[in-house]
Amino acid sequence: MPQHVVVTRSATEHAHTAEILRRVEAAGVSDVRVLTNDRITSPKGETEREAYARAKATLAVVVAPPSQLKPQPIPPSADWRLDLARGCPAHCQYCYLAGSLSGPPITRLYANLDDVLAPISSLSGTGSVTTGDAARGGEGTTFELSCYTDPLGIEHLTGSLATAVEQVGTGHHGDGASLRFTTKFDAVQPLLALPHGRRTRVRFSLNATEVERFEGGTASMPRRVAALREVALAGYPVGLTIAPVMPVPGWQQSYGTLLDDVAAALAGVTDLDLTAEVITHRFTPGSKEVLTGWYPRTRLEMDEASRSSKRSKFGGIKYVYPRETMTELRGWFTEQLAARLPAARLLYWT
Ligand code: SF4
Repeated sequence: MPQHVVVTRSATEHAHTAEILRRVEAAGVSDVRVLTNDRITSPKGETEREAYARAKATLAVVVAPPSQLKPQPIPPSADWRLDLARGCPAHCQYCYLAGSLSGPPITRLYANLDDVLAPISSLSGTGSVTTGDAARGGEGTTFELSCYTDPLGIEHLTGSLATAVEQVGTGHHGDGASLRFTTKFDAVQPLLALPHGRRTRVRFSLNATEVERFEGGTASMPRRVAALREVALAGYPVGLTIAPVMPVPGWQQSYGTLLDDVAAALAGVTDLDLTAEVITHRFTPGSKEVLTGWYPRTRLEMDEASRSSKRSKFGGIKYVYPRETMTELRGWFTEQLAARLPAARLLYWT
């Protein structure tokens, strides 16, 4: 729940803003400011930590500029990335956004939702990840909604996700596309009765209990697993995003319990379509600097000396676990997913 909402002048010209403001008011947010221009200023604070907290408690309703409306390829998850918003109000100490979004962590909701969704029809039939792929081609051209936000975490204030799911599910953008998103939240109720047409894969970001303590402001693991069952019963294709995997002490036991909990939750679901994506923890010099500024007392291990460095495709450095650890983790997850969750198709490991 945000404490502060700001709306840019340009955003007021879009009908979707009225819907967002209706939801914001219904949620009881009283500090709502409509700007006379389009400038969102950085929240101030005595310390970096205070400025961070104020930014995280602020939602901005803005118009996505043309540069942010052009979908980008997003392997290995999907053909294209599509952003309903940028930023997330949760407080994960390893947050992926720290390395990809710059500036104060205000959550920016896009008011021009029609513009955001328009490329779905024009890009259908194109893409290099699932489109035409032997194993994943059945998903059609895929659009990933959770690269720069957690779309379910803000859905009660936007309704953008339900609109996207319904439009794609009813063929508004043609028959060749599907959506996918991952979440650490559990408020799935508004999605359950939508005409989704099995064209949106709802994935839950799940982890060992020892890693959950780094995920401030999110739904607990049992609630995410319960929500997974609810959407699966509602006929959605579902998925597990097991990420970021960390070899914490006793990790085999912890991740084994997680897989068993998921298997128990999905028992009896007919027409189950289940995938798994497994992503190990990594960080970059830039993300470490941002995260240690936001969470100065974090106990998250980000020790370059105990990692292997790899060059990313854009030439930057990222720190991953050493080869032996990666081999051990990969072997365990491949084997245990097959044994404990045989219905799950492992899409990729990284
Ligand atoms: S839920 Fe995802 S996007 Fe939000 S803070 Fe956590 S890792 Fe970042």
